[in-house]
Amino acid sequence: MDTCLNRRQIKSNGKADIQLPVAYLICNQTPPVDDKPSLMTFTEVETVFHEFGHGLQHMLTKIDYPSAAGINNVEWDAVELPSQFMENWCYERPTLMGMAKHYQTGEPLPEHYYQKLVAARNYMSGSGMLRQLHFSLLDIELHYRYRPDGDETPEDVRNRIAKNTTILPPLPEDNFLCAFGHIFAGGYAAGYYSYKWAEVLSADAFAAFEEAGLEDEQAIKTTGKRYRDTVLALGGSKHPMEVFKSFRGREPSTEPLLKHNGLKAA
Ligand SMILES: [Zn+2]
Repeated sequence: MDTCLNRRQIKSNGKADIQLPVAYLICNQTPPVDDKPSLMTFTEVETVFHEFGHGLQHMLTKIDYPSAAGINNVEWDAVELPSQFMENWCYERPTLMGMAKHYQTGEPLPEHYYQKLVAARNYMSGSGMLRQLHFSLLDIELHYRYRPDGDETPEDVRNRIAKNTTILPPLPEDNFLCAFGHIFAGGYAAGYYSYKWAEVLSADAFAAFEEAGLEDEQAIKTTGKRYRDTVLALGGSKHPMEVFKSFRGREPSTEPLLKHNGLKAA
């Protein structure tokens, strides 16, 4: 996503001139072919929802200082909250059925396809979760606690972390650490956990809507307004924990993510 934001400019007469933020979503999507419109895959729809979440946080900001408005200055581990939050709506029946129609006949998405989408969402989610926890813990351990003059080699650290986070121990010839580009060359050093943490935040934010009742339009409006006035309005003007608490009334819980991933009974 590309953005351009300059909410406050001081004119020569000393008066502030507020400008509206501008956000561009630039996505690679299936192009229209001949007389067929762009027939997007489900993944492409999810991507648009995701990027639109970033766009919403940017466009609905109430902060007048460009460097803390919209998506600016939001801590790394909270920056994917509004975007991943939006992905949840792609699986919510009324939202999906409201747009998933045959482009010629207008026929809605058949129920069995909807059920397949829901089932595929959590396919092997336990393994996926474990894999991300393995990477995250290993990253923190190597960048935070590891001492090159200590007793352990980086490989020893990996094998130690693997005892709790992999089903099978790594093979002796496995040189994964040499290929873990994210944390050595990709700028994610000690920050890989932010992928999972953002999922915790976005799942818990969506759970507020589930608790209010997804079928209850008035409750959704009220919760949506609170979400709009906190997460989407405050940008990087406050610590993300404060912003989250002002929406949720408490600190984040990991329960909704476990439930959404099918790892705990809903
Ligand atoms: Zn994103």
